[in-house]
Amino acid sequence: MQRVNGGGARPPITAPDPFSIPERIGRLYFRVALPMVAGSLLIAGIGASPGSLRVLVALSGTALLGAALHLLLPARWHDTLRRAFPLTTIAFVLVVALLSRPGGLSGDPLLLTVLLLLAPGTVLAWTLLFTDDARMGRLTGLGLSAAATLLVWRWQALGLQPSLSSNTPLLLLVVCLIVVSYGGAFTEINRRYLAGEQAQRRDALTGLLNRRAFDEHTRRAQAPGTALAVLDIDHFKRVNDTHGHTAGDRVLRGVADVLLDVLAGRGQAYRWGGEEFALLLPPDATEDVSAQAAALLEQVRAEVARRTFTGGQRVTLSAGLSVVQPGEAVQAAFERADSALREAKDSGRDRVVSRS
Ligand code: GH3
Ligand code: MG
Ligand code: MG
Repeated sequence: MQRVNGGGARPPITAPDPFSIPERIGRLYFRVALPMVAGSLLIAGIGASPGSLRVLVALSGTALLGAALHLLLPARWHDTLRRAFPLTTIAFVLVVALLSRPGGLSGDPLLLTVLLLLAPGTVLAWTLLFTDDARMGRLTGLGLSAAATLLVWRWQALGLQPSLSSNTPLLLLVVCLIVVSYGGAFTEINRRYLAGEQAQRRDALTGLLNRRAFDEHTRRAQAPGTALAVLDIDHFKRVNDTHGHTAGDRVLRGVADVLLDVLAGRGQAYRWGGEEFALLLPPDATEDVSAQAAALLEQVRAEVARRTFTGGQRVTLSAGLSVVQPGEAVQAAFERADSALREAKDSGRDRVVSRS
């Protein structure tokens, strides 16, 4: 039985799917990007002033701690870590900003370089870290932007504005590599999104467009003269009852193949429901679309009736055909085709009835 969450009920904490996009991006951030940042900061810190070395070591330590926690904690804690880490980092930058004063921590070229390079890359990384929670991505990005700006502004206001460090190349390389890997992750998200969009409109069994695609296409006004057909396999239940559902599935795929063969790219075929299909044929300026569509449907009917499907099954189908009239909604044409289909069934099946 399906449980319904009542008001305030929390979904159970479950381990995230390791192949989900947020989890994969989390791994990329904590297990690849953070160790790279920590390593490059430590190398950049060689020869730095004691003040900035302390900041760099603390920052690297935080990054390595984040990486280690992600590696060691059970997967169900990854979401908590993902939310806590950016907040800790923002707090860290704010503390550095507040400690920066004459006689206290002063801005130095290395810290300025680190800040200018890491802050924008980190904002991008966090945006992608929260692909499933855009608000958190925006909030953490804005938080870091504000903290980093405050820090540089304090250096400027206090006359501590340094120039860029000579350790820039390595940091630049690391930041660029991180941005490139995030760009790759983004492309992957986009690829999966597009594949998902396509899959949502395809019927998995026959490979035809599905009911969702049909509804979307027919919601848009179709040009007058568009032919619309509804087809239904006759006594299909008997195929399942006699030969089993696997044989039934093979017949459905076979009928879909016939539709595609006969259409030969001239229109669009859909699996509308179980053993029901729909066709949309665009108007043709050179021919009477109604006669052309009727001939095409007759070809489909004859080919299905002629074929012996894998396993020896023979089936027939009935079809109703209509043509969208000027100023008419597609729905009205669909209802006419559907009623023509009922007439084809009532008058003996294995036939095409037109109602233009
Ligand atoms: P009619 O000539 O009046 O259309 O009779 P029918 O038996 O074709 O129609 P009915 O609506 O009674 O049965 C349709 C059957 O289609 C019932 C259902 O089990 C079967 N069906 C629907 N979807 C699938 C499918 O994906 N695979 C298989 N194997 N059968 C399916
Ligand atoms: Mg039916
Ligand atoms: Mg049927």
